[in-house]
Amino acid sequence: MEIIIAKDIMKANDQIAEANLSRLDQAGTYGVNLLGSPGCGKTTLLETMSGYLRGRLNFAVIEGDLATSRDGERVEALGVPTIQINTGGGCHLDATMVATALESLHLETIDLLLIENVGNLVCPAGFRLGERLRVALLSIPEGDDKVAKYPTMFSAVDAIVINKIDLLPYLDFDLDRVRSDLQIVAPQVEMMILSGRTGEGVADFANWLAVKRSEVFGVPHSQ
Ligand code: MG
Ligand code: ZN
Repeated sequence: MEIIIAKDIMKANDQIAEANLSRLDQAGTYGVNLLGSPGCGKTTLLETMSGYLRGRLNFAVIEGDLATSRDGERVEALGVPTIQINTGGGCHLDATMVATALESLHLETIDLLLIENVGNLVCPAGFRLGERLRVALLSIPEGDDKVAKYPTMFSAVDAIVINKIDLLPYLDFDLDRVRSDLQIVAPQVEMMILSGRTGEGVADFANWLAVKRSEVFGVPHSQ
């Protein structure tokens, strides 16, 4: 009987993720893995952000969902090259799925590749995709205890974005509690605050991504 251990599956995934990263590096494409719960506002942030990125960076989106192309359609409607991955029940994206999606994108013209992972605060953290940056969203309605309760996710990212800040006056959410939990769980993680719905703070986040990309690849393809 053959026994496959989770550790070996992760190792195989890491190797494919490395290949994806090389492919993206060759093309000058900066990959960002966007993580967070269902409903935390990942797709809305992509929609709002597209307005700030347009004209500065060429960007494309990979949408990961269990089912439907609803999110992909929302982003594609804005004129953004979009690939929808349906995992058919799978609770995270893996490097093989992303490798397949990369074949359908003209990477040599793309500066920034935004990958919206399946909504889930647990296992997506364990699967590298070939990204250079990982950003976790946490929205105000989810509660201020999530960093402490899901440390695997929030310590595996480069930045945490507090989304739906427009709802702060209506809900009991203590930003300082998140800050202090983050100090314990992952002090190196940057924290940003915004609202994908109202646009507050989104320009700063888009700028931050553009700077992160330029630190690695310099001027964008279009300029
Ligand atoms: Mg979505
Ligand atoms: Zn999973």
